[in-house]
Amino acid sequence: MRVTRHAIHAIHVRAVHHVKAAQTVHAVHLVVAALVLAAFAVPATTPAAAADEDRPVVVVLATGGTIAGAGASDVASGYQSARLAVDALIESVPDAAKLARLRGEQVASIGSQDMTDEVWLTLARRVNVVAANPEVGGIVITHGTDTLEETAYFLNLVVKTRKPVVLTGAMRPSTALSADGPLNFFNAVAVAASPAAAGQGVLVVINDGIHDAASLTKTSTTAVEAFRSPLRGLVGSVTWGAVEFFRAPPQRHTTASEFSIDGVEALPRVEIVMAHAGMTGDLIDAAVGLGARGIVVAGVGNGNMTASALEALTRAAARGIVCVRSTRVASGEVGRNVEVDDDGRGFIASDELNAPKARVLLKLALLRPRSAADIQRLFHEY
Ligand code: ASP
Repeated sequence: MRVTRHAIHAIHVRAVHHVKAAQTVHAVHLVVAALVLAAFAVPATTPAAAADEDRPVVVVLATGGTIAGAGASDVASGYQSARLAVDALIESVPDAAKLARLRGEQVASIGSQDMTDEVWLTLARRVNVVAANPEVGGIVITHGTDTLEETAYFLNLVVKTRKPVVLTGAMRPSTALSADGPLNFFNAVAVAASPAAAGQGVLVVINDGIHDAASLTKTSTTAVEAFRSPLRGLVGSVTWGAVEFFRAPPQRHTTASEFSIDGVEALPRVEIVMAHAGMTGDLIDAAVGLGARGIVVAGVGNGNMTASALEALTRAAARGIVCVRSTRVASGEVGRNVEVDDDGRGFIASDELNAPKARVLLKLALLRPRSAADIQRLFHEY
């Protein structure tokens, strides 16, 4: 890779910025060395820079998370999410500008543990507006990893575009040793700029993998290899910006989705209750008392729970609350009527959806009256 004078200048500017925070001369040398090494480390397989007019416009919608996180130490302890603004995030990966003309917008500045229905609705509306702009080729959304799968799945159901919409995040903050954010961002831009990503629904690019929104889940609290799509596997890979798709996402999404957030101001309350040995029905009763319109049980095994929890859930279903059996297990489907009489008790089986995603689908399903059979159909199709 060629390192231009401009790039070296930028590296030094970034280094000086970091140094002000670190406030030691020793740190200057370490940071400059690390950044220069990082610049040289991009191998020759990086896609060649396209001519200016050939590069698509990719809009970066930033929401915060560890990818925008920073801390005083170079290990990932004591850092704060959402410290880097979108422009600083874009500038910290200068190679991404060789793949696309990047424009940044800050939609939120939160750790994704604080994600809300309101931010989901705002973000989804913004994606729909940005994607409708004929100048725009694709969208990258930077996001915390904790609830990334929920946001990706929500958007997959409600955004109406065939243009690439790609979420990415990082397990290590920008100031940590071997931060994974810059390469994840670079690869996300590569996918968002790729014609092959059109019509594939909302994608998540992380740790060189391309996941579909319905399949992926976070499986490690700290590892860089945190995300997996346990049942379906990756839809593709992206290696230093080289994009390859293996298959198309199987579930209905985006332009083929029947869901719309037009005119939707709020989403119905749906609670998740986790099953465990010795579970009582008390938390299910509490969810009913708090006005939940839907309850998802993250059951043991194939969506199971104790007899008393089953009785509480059956009472809830009899009151018109939509009750979905999902699982607390990381992989596998929850099938209808396997050990639990879903037909007799009026339950829905979550099929492939884990409990957080079952909650997202149920919130959208409850936006209008539906029969139990229709809601079960949604869990099979999405
Ligand atoms: N708590 C952070 C978040 O989800 C963790 C991360 O981004 O990896 O925003």
